[in-house]
Amino acid sequence: MKFENSLEFAQNCDTNDRLKKFRNQFYFPKTNLGDNKIYLCGNSLGLQPKSTSDYIQQELNDWSDYGVDGHTDAKNPWMPYHEFLSKPMANIVGAKESEVIIMNTLSVNLHLMMVSFYQPTSKRHKILIEADAFPSDLYAVESQLKYHDYDPKDALILWKPREDQYYDIEDFNQIIQNHGDEIALVLIGNTNYYTGQHFDMKYITDSCHQNDIKIGFDLAHGVGNIQPHLHDLGVDFAVWCTYKYLNSGPGSLGGCFVHEKHHTKDLHRFTGWWGHDKSTRFNMRQDFKPIPTAEAWQLSNPPILSMAAIRASLDIFQQAGFDNVVKKSKDLTGFLEYLLLELNDDNLKLITPKKPNERGCQLSIQFLDADKSLFDKLTQAGVVADWREPQVIRVAPAPLYNSFEDVYQFVQILKHIRYAG
Ligand SMILES: *Cc1c(COP(=O)(O)O)cnc(C)c1O
Repeated sequence: MKFENSLEFAQNCDTNDRLKKFRNQFYFPKTNLGDNKIYLCGNSLGLQPKSTSDYIQQELNDWSDYGVDGHTDAKNPWMPYHEFLSKPMANIVGAKESEVIIMNTLSVNLHLMMVSFYQPTSKRHKILIEADAFPSDLYAVESQLKYHDYDPKDALILWKPREDQYYDIEDFNQIIQNHGDEIALVLIGNTNYYTGQHFDMKYITDSCHQNDIKIGFDLAHGVGNIQPHLHDLGVDFAVWCTYKYLNSGPGSLGGCFVHEKHHTKDLHRFTGWWGHDKSTRFNMRQDFKPIPTAEAWQLSNPPILSMAAIRASLDIFQQAGFDNVVKKSKDLTGFLEYLLLELNDDNLKLITPKKPNERGCQLSIQFLDADKSLFDKLTQAGVVADWREPQVIRVAPAPLYNSFEDVYQFVQILKHIRYAG
């Protein structure tokens, strides 16, 4: 797409956008004047689809009408409710239906996956993670090491970014060359939450498997705008949340992928009744017999109201077509990058990679001369973005509900604050 720096160009892109009708299907927070805020914070919490309340209301109605019988008699029976989510979710992460399960929350799922896929031996017990991983991922990994009596000081290997915040795959290679036979697990956020860098998942997966290392990805900052092709790459496991780009509401359930090659293996696993063979689950006396899919990792019967919100969101993704979402995401973020570079500001540095296949929808902007007052002014002007100390603003146009005009107006406001204010 060839960009132009004008409002007219942005509005033209919106007119020709095949996903334009979806913007209207979301609630936008409003300014005091009643206008939509410029919401660029889908990397933290996605907006609410207008249909969500109907999906939740349906389950509330069935609960009042049927009580316990809703498990079987509700319009969308609660017993198999999680199964309604698997296919559309699998489509978004490039998996088979049997490889995906919505359950728990991200950090919990990460622990459950490490119970199965972090199997340390005295020779091979280290974990490799990117240096500036999301804190929860780091805490989870450190606590798993300690649980197995290893000191994170020795057993945790950090893949560090270079001066410019870029994680170079050469440095990853070097670590694997030096420590490949000591590492049991590599856990990488497929898109780094801070810089927005998207890693080469195929390269990393192949490299791990050539060295007998298990590989897991945290998709939190990519899912919903990057297609990770988990099955074809042969990734061992992946986890993600659904409240960021998947718009399912604050604290909603997370997703989990387990490659089918592991489904019938005798792995360590923490278990609960919802992972037991469905035909005998309610006999209540049987020895544990795992469902031969990712469902075997389920512990509890799931919260239907939260799942209803996920269902509302996934139905929108299905209508939009995920390929269309990914394509628009590249155009929107490309337009944002183009406009920011047009500012010709030596103190404004994009720490997100320039190549479209090395990022998702988020751009992380470092302001070498600014402090948080810049961000506060943006907030006052009706922009919702996200500030990271010491001097980074993350902006993430979400392809389902953000417009090219949103992106244009954001850069206009930034320009006004920085050069006219
Ligand atoms: C958002 C996010 C989390 C949050 O974890 P929860 O368990 O859902 O609170 C964890 N890790 C990463 C990489 C994230 O982006």
